[in-house]
Amino acid sequence: MTTTAPACAIPVAGDAVPEEELVARATAAREALGNRLVILGHHYQKHEVIRFADVTGDSFLLARRGAEATEADLVLFLGVYFMAEAADILAQPHQRVILPDLTAGCHLAECADIFTVNDAWEQITAHLPGRTIVPLTYMNSGADLKAFVGRNGGAVCTSGNAERAFRWARERGDMVFFFPDEHLGRNTACRLGMAPTAPVVWDPRHADLGGIAPDRLTASEIVLWKGFCNVHTAFTVRQIEETRAAHPDVTVIVHPECPYPVVEAADEDGSTEYIIRRLGEMPAGSTVAIGTDWNLVDRLRLQHPDKTVFCLKEDLCPCVTMNRITLPKLTWALESLAAGEVPNVVTVDDGMARDARLALDRMLTL
Ligand code: SF4
Repeated sequence: MTTTAPACAIPVAGDAVPEEELVARATAAREALGNRLVILGHHYQKHEVIRFADVTGDSFLLARRGAEATEADLVLFLGVYFMAEAADILAQPHQRVILPDLTAGCHLAECADIFTVNDAWEQITAHLPGRTIVPLTYMNSGADLKAFVGRNGGAVCTSGNAERAFRWARERGDMVFFFPDEHLGRNTACRLGMAPTAPVVWDPRHADLGGIAPDRLTASEIVLWKGFCNVHTAFTVRQIEETRAAHPDVTVIVHPECPYPVVEAADEDGSTEYIIRRLGEMPAGSTVAIGTDWNLVDRLRLQHPDKTVFCLKEDLCPCVTMNRITLPKLTWALESLAAGEVPNVVTVDDGMARDARLALDRMLTL
């Protein structure tokens, strides 16, 4: 993966400009670009930038929508780095993907890197000769990890199709190696009827077999990477208990990146798209506590004034990296594009993109 501008190429004086002026400037630049530009906005983005999005959604949906906007040669992603990479992997040859702040990463995605995953793969396959191991990576992973699973017969999955992906992988092999989210992996294994303790957890800080006893690894069917999202692991069972005590009629919905005990204690769990859909289905007067990023929950609260909607952890910090995309940076990116410069282009190397696309295409066949 390469980029065409240094990570420091972001405006630092923008915060001094009044918000109304930034909105007016961003709007003018966006209008000047017309159909040449499509703006994709992830659900966890701040209000101040998501209002400029032509399409909102989860990372995979957005990457596809960018590629479908064939009249656009510029795809501006309001999200984090792995999402912009995915958009570039699926992009048309004439499209370039722009991320207004190249430092907008993802804690979860960065829990696994190609070097430690390669090392784990070599150790597991050497320990289990003759076994068919199918690697699966969550969408929240680098392009190099998506390419790794593509090369090794595996697939990408999202939080919305993880159960189908695990079934698919188990039909093809006798072990699933899933990274980087331990919690989504365990919650998915439980949905398949396994005990929460059945999967083994590979800790990359351990040099030997990820800290797993050799006989346990031999006996296991699912190996999970010890990675987590720092937003979704902030939710606890105690918060659910206290919420139920304060609101006896509450429905608690959490994201499957939350730890298993939280998912088990909640009424429902599902992807961001699931949470948005469920809110729409619920009758007026419903009380709903949601365990996912604060920006999305706050937007849902505003969109459903007939319901009581709140975050399961009221003082939750929004995802820090998602929030790196600010109105000043978006304005700077739009004005640069309107002036004929294309800053902060995210590019995945052709070979890596080809292998990663294999893994994404396999997901589409699930
Ligand atoms: S909320 Fe979690 S998974 Fe999503 S971008 Fe932030 S750190 Fe990554």
